[in-house]
Amino acid sequence: MTILAASPCPALDAPDVAPLAAVVGADLSVPLVHGGHARYVNLDYAASAPALRAVADRVAELLPLYASVHRGAGYASVVCTSAYEAARAEIAAFVGAGPDDAVVFTRNTTDALNLLATAVPGFAPGVGVPGAGGVVHLDIEHHANLLPWQRLGARVVRAGGTRAQTVAAVAAELAAAPAALLAVTGASNVTGECPPLAELTSVAHRHGARIVVDGAQLVPHRRVALAESGIDYLAFSGHKIYAPFGAGVLVGRRDWLEAAPPYLAGGGAVREVRLGGTEWAAVPARHEAGTPNVVGAVALAAACRAVAALGAEAVTAHETALVRRLTRGLAGIDGVRPLRLWPSAAGDEPGGESGEADRIGVVTFTVDGYPADLVAQYLSAEHGIGVRDGRFCAHPLLARLTADPAGVRASLGLGSRAADVDRLVTALAELRAHGPAWAYARTEAGCAPDPDPRALPDWLAGGVPGPASACSDQ
Ligand code: PMP
Repeated sequence: MTILAASPCPALDAPDVAPLAAVVGADLSVPLVHGGHARYVNLDYAASAPALRAVADRVAELLPLYASVHRGAGYASVVCTSAYEAARAEIAAFVGAGPDDAVVFTRNTTDALNLLATAVPGFAPGVGVPGAGGVVHLDIEHHANLLPWQRLGARVVRAGGTRAQTVAAVAAELAAAPAALLAVTGASNVTGECPPLAELTSVAHRHGARIVVDGAQLVPHRRVALAESGIDYLAFSGHKIYAPFGAGVLVGRRDWLEAAPPYLAGGGAVREVRLGGTEWAAVPARHEAGTPNVVGAVALAAACRAVAALGAEAVTAHETALVRRLTRGLAGIDGVRPLRLWPSAAGDEPGGESGEADRIGVVTFTVDGYPADLVAQYLSAEHGIGVRDGRFCAHPLLARLTADPAGVRASLGLGSRAADVDRLVTALAELRAHGPAWAYARTEAGCAPDPDPRALPDWLAGGVPGPASACSDQ
């Protein structure tokens, strides 16, 4: 068995990488089961990224002025209405939306994709386009970009082989029978690999279909330019782009959304209500009934502004250096097996199939001899490292990629640094060399340190951690 020594370590012999931006909680110190504390290593950005300092500052600026939008004449209401609509415009600019595109605020990506599902011609009541119909999606999708389409009876294409073979398989499916919409992720939340969006967009268009990109993982990490790329719809979430305040967005072509029934029926979505019938408002108000999440929308726009100001090249370079460090570190530990959609003969070198340029900072792996939940618990309890374990809301993909029931996912972002990656690699090498140093018990709620002496923060005193919920990312 080849085990990396904690130090010196060839894979960690790369130049230091500092955080690219300040995030709230960067210096969080967390308790360890054997006593003492460690700086928290957050390697769970793909689940929810920490707030950027700039985003938190904008929210703090807004809160004293907080008021409901669109209806009030008071000064605070006028300010909030203006901030909400400015946020919409800022997000449109950030994703390079065209003049014909609408920006609809939603709760998150799941909500945005469910909204779009109500607007697909042939499925939405009253929205019909002769000859169009059907949705096609890849088998690698997060459930948010799978279940809304499965409910519509969508057809599935296996994203196997190589990227080029995946594009060819999509083309064949679209040629076999027309579809109104092709739904693809911008980046896999399991492997971090990015499907070839330019090719998929042109294949969809060539066959008369539109394309929606699930941008939940891609948008925080890469520049997406809707009008320039031809992508028709894009959905993403604030909490994954450093704005964890509960807003998401659907951006894209207005006509389907305008023709669709209001996503929710209620105040704000109407022009005129009579007891006998209602005249609905135009998009975006049409799909934003109820009091909107102004704070979330403003935070999301502030995050977009901050990410844009860093520059796409700097974001990619920072992340690429860290992913390279991570994949090389993991490759040096016998029994740690990264999951890949499109494995390459060229490994992780740039330019190879599935090279670093085509992936974001998300890496999922299994560890021989240790179930994923035990690995995650060990990393947290003994090393103060936060990762995600499970099936990542991508059950079909996990079933295809591994015989293990689950994987461990490490994910990076703007606040990540080389030392975070090194801590993970060293901890995994130790696990494989010596096993865990603490005891772990399996209960109905899953695997947990036994005992677990770590206290919750004082403000939660008296609260007991409940059983792990149905596991948010299972
Ligand atoms: N798509 C992808 C690729 C994701 O990673 C996630 C979140 N795990 C979602 C969609 C759903 O995002 P949200 O929970 O914010 O709706």
